[in-house]
Amino acid sequence: MDKKKAMNRRDFFKVAGAAGLAATALAGCRGGKETPPEEPAMGEMTRRTNPSTGDKVSLLGFGMMRLPSVGGRSAREGNEDIDQEMVNRMVDYAIAHGVNYFDTSPAYCRGLSEKATGIALARHPRNSYFVATKLSNFAPETWPREASIAMYRNSLKDLQTDHIDYYLLHGIGMGGGMEEYEKRYIDNGVLSFLLDERKAGRIRNLGFSYHGDVAVFDRLLAEHDKYHWDFVQIQLNYLDWKYAKEINPNNTNAEYLYNELAKRHIPAVIMEPLLGGRLSNVPDGIVAMLKQREPERSVASWAFRFAGSFPGVLTVLSGMTRMEHLQDNLRTYSPLRPLSDEEFAFLQRAADRMMQFDTIPCNDCKYCMPCPYGIDIPAILLHYNKCLNEGNVPESAQEPGYRRARRAWLVGYDRNVPKLRQASHCIGCGQCSPHCPQRIDIPAELHRIDAYVERLKQNKL
Ligand code: SF4
Ligand code: SF4
Repeated sequence: MDKKKAMNRRDFFKVAGAAGLAATALAGCRGGKETPPEEPAMGEMTRRTNPSTGDKVSLLGFGMMRLPSVGGRSAREGNEDIDQEMVNRMVDYAIAHGVNYFDTSPAYCRGLSEKATGIALARHPRNSYFVATKLSNFAPETWPREASIAMYRNSLKDLQTDHIDYYLLHGIGMGGGMEEYEKRYIDNGVLSFLLDERKAGRIRNLGFSYHGDVAVFDRLLAEHDKYHWDFVQIQLNYLDWKYAKEINPNNTNAEYLYNELAKRHIPAVIMEPLLGGRLSNVPDGIVAMLKQREPERSVASWAFRFAGSFPGVLTVLSGMTRMEHLQDNLRTYSPLRPLSDEEFAFLQRAADRMMQFDTIPCNDCKYCMPCPYGIDIPAILLHYNKCLNEGNVPESAQEPGYRRARRAWLVGYDRNVPKLRQASHCIGCGQCSPHCPQRIDIPAELHRIDAYVERLKQNKL
């Protein structure tokens, strides 16, 4: 074991030991395999203290990026309105069960999330929750100072507040890396403006969320003495802990990101604890491994326990569309039962096994959408991953179970992706790939999948 790992494992063990092994209630399962009971039995929500402000933040943070639409789907997709009544109910339920951190952005839910979040939260006393939002100035037309500041002011208006508790430079390192960072925040004086807003108390905590080019992450941390980041949002889960770079050479292992923050005592806010749902829809062999140890606990709860067990984590964000997602997560963190050292090693073995499946690292963020030609990119990639995880991607017609697997692939494809939105209609224009934080070569993957579908259809494997 190398020195860095050894240090980290000791720290990890320390927190697990300190918190002890509290008893927890039963948990349900994601993906419709199990139905959790309506009213789960729970204890107190675990809270973490922010060293800058003393905020006592709930370990479960409500990510407002997959709010329910009136049709019951996530409002990230399609054109349906947000189901405000359901959002209000979920927010009320979350607050009643100890959640006090709500994370939104002008970019979420096709631009509708902040308003819906503001409506739901304004029904509660302002001091009963913390609201986080971001300067999502991705589009070049929002880079001028006035346009970026207008976006910030609009967030205050939509959130119906005169101050933002946690404000982030959104998606640092994405797209054009360092050059884009300079244009979005430095050349236009916007970072100086935000620092002044923090001084004035209209921003209580200033941080950034990181995806992509690690040089930008390193630079911002090197400037910590100058900017005093109050928190940083990173992607952390048990697969990305040591495999993020292997999954995608442009990503950075969560072990590195977390340790760099811990060294500087900067609290970490965690995004993608389920890696876009991949860690709740794991291959059948991994489900068996997890269920054998704790049959009543959901597959997703292991990933949440992993993310929440690190002592430097302030809150773990979960984008919840349905009440049962919220209830399952509440059970996991009310209170958190930190992973033991042995359980940490067990999840690393599960990650080792998952790496044997050659899935595409799509986390369903939808930044590549909409495709001007109507292709449903994430739905295609996720269907491919699901089939791989379930052993339904036959390589040859001679394989046992070929007919069943072929049928599962083709029927599931038509069910999940309407014909006109399938990979065969991709013209390879390449407009999508630059927006993908996972740096997936989308047209190449779609072309590969389409060629495979054709061979399957024609029984030519
Ligand atoms: S490369 Fe294909 S999927 Fe991407 S934007 Fe063009 S047509 Fe759409
Ligand atoms: S292909 Fe990339 S941008 Fe599109 S949903 Fe997947 S991860 Fe996100």
